[in-house]
Amino acid sequence: MIKKNKQLEVAFLGGVGEIGKNMTAICYANDILIVDCGSTFPSMDDTPGIDLIIPDFTFIKDNIDKVKGIVITHGHEDHIGGIPYLLAECGNIPVFGSSLAIALIKHKLTEKKINMPKLNVVKGGDKKNIGVFSVEFVNVTHSILGAFALAITTPAGVVFHTGDYKIDYTPVDGESIDLGRIADIGKAGVTLMLGESTNIEKKGTTISEKEVGITLQRVIESNADKRIIIATFASNVNRVQQIVSICEKVGRQVAFDGRSMVNISEMAKKLGMLECKENTIIPIEEIKGVEPQKLCIISTGSQGEPMSALTRMANGEDKEVVIGENDVVAISSQPIPGNEKAVYTLINNLYRRGAKVLYGSLEQLHVSGHACQDELKLMLSLVRPKYFIPVHGEYRHLKKHEELALSMGIPKENIRLVDIGNRVVVKKKSIQLVQSVEAGEVYVDGDSNVDSLVLRDRKQLSTDGVVILLLNIDVENRQLYSVDILARGMVFEEEFLEDLKKLAEDIFETSSYKNESDRGGLKNNLKRKISRVILNKLRQRPMVLPLLIEQVRGDKTEGEE
Ligand SMILES: [Zn+2]
Ligand SMILES: [Zn+2]
Repeated sequence: MIKKNKQLEVAFLGGVGEIGKNMTAICYANDILIVDCGSTFPSMDDTPGIDLIIPDFTFIKDNIDKVKGIVITHGHEDHIGGIPYLLAECGNIPVFGSSLAIALIKHKLTEKKINMPKLNVVKGGDKKNIGVFSVEFVNVTHSILGAFALAITTPAGVVFHTGDYKIDYTPVDGESIDLGRIADIGKAGVTLMLGESTNIEKKGTTISEKEVGITLQRVIESNADKRIIIATFASNVNRVQQIVSICEKVGRQVAFDGRSMVNISEMAKKLGMLECKENTIIPIEEIKGVEPQKLCIISTGSQGEPMSALTRMANGEDKEVVIGENDVVAISSQPIPGNEKAVYTLINNLYRRGAKVLYGSLEQLHVSGHACQDELKLMLSLVRPKYFIPVHGEYRHLKKHEELALSMGIPKENIRLVDIGNRVVVKKKSIQLVQSVEAGEVYVDGDSNVDSLVLRDRKQLSTDGVVILLLNIDVENRQLYSVDILARGMVFEEEFLEDLKKLAEDIFETSSYKNESDRGGLKNNLKRKISRVILNKLRQRPMVLPLLIEQVRGDKTEGEE
């Protein structure tokens, strides 16, 4: 072991400069601890056809013999969505998380048929020794149950990771954020704090989840003669619990619609996190037997996701739920930036079917799970870290969080703003950015990973179309039989098409293919020259694909599409 390696380093593999795919590696000498391994949902505009974006795991793969475990702050996708891919690439790594986070991970691994690693369920207050690190899991409140901050004791001091949190003094499940313990950890001395920054732009304090319950109760009671449909995030078990409890009070039965809503509610029931009377919940297939005003459907799709239950209902494609004038649909979430258009399309379509739709503008139909400025200040003042790095935010969030920390007296030289791939070394007297590690984005499409070149092709295809040049060649005599041109996503006039064919023939006749059978050179020439002519004539940049079909005489087939 080289002595100079005995220092605390933190490598940021995701979740900084972006909201999504959180992943951090805490390194000391020959040990690495991974905190979270999330995924991001892609946007249609930037990443057409991509299912999921995950972090680049190169750094972990290169150092896999040092990796001692993964600790999970909570079970949201931006913290656990990458785990099946990490384990598939890097093999067995023990995972530590709350019972709900572990149940969600187990479900993912089973679905993807990935070998189960050792899954360790922990609860608030637990301490685990993982390699050289000792990790204490501290209860925090967030929009999913079983959320932790982490106090990671290393030989070079304590790293405190807030995880995602809000300070909810009246949590639905009664399990409050452990402010007392956080204060103790702060008093004992925290070397480095990593603090989430999502709601840094919002003043004041985030409203308690209980307030949503009060609003939903009002909605349900004032629409006593209607069928109620409430769309929310499946992972927000507390909210689902509140709806179920209200329905029991007013004598409505509840049906879950949407795969993740059915799955997670089932999981939460088994774990004792979702409590209900025996006949409250009925399968969605049985709603026809219940009077509409005695029914509440809790569904997925509050973000207008294309395949979700609520989108199916709004499009009149749901097998069980036909929306009509007797329905009240409450959307209990805010559109995540980027999803606005999908959500408003959904709302328009629900209105078209005659439903009454409640969303956004109605007060407290949804509250955030993230801390606003006053809570962020309270956290900083309790933890009182020597060094501070804001995380879980786009660059502007990180910058604003830095300003907040500065205003609270943390010196500028003790704060670092980091990007994906950055690595910091934490020393007694300073915190330094050192050489970055390999990091970035990996695009998952179905069962395979695709790179940025594939994406570039897709974008070009979607905006400019494709032109395929088929050159049928007599390979023995190196003669051209014919040229066929197929265009998709654009239209050529007959005359221009003939010009292009003529040009392709000329390029063939003067190419080095004739003498040296230089296929690459011929294709490049075709691509370059044909692209230029199309650009000059039509101001369009389609993808030009030359295909050389080399045939032996006698095989010659008619050119066909
Ligand atoms: Zn979260
Ligand atoms: Zn998060």
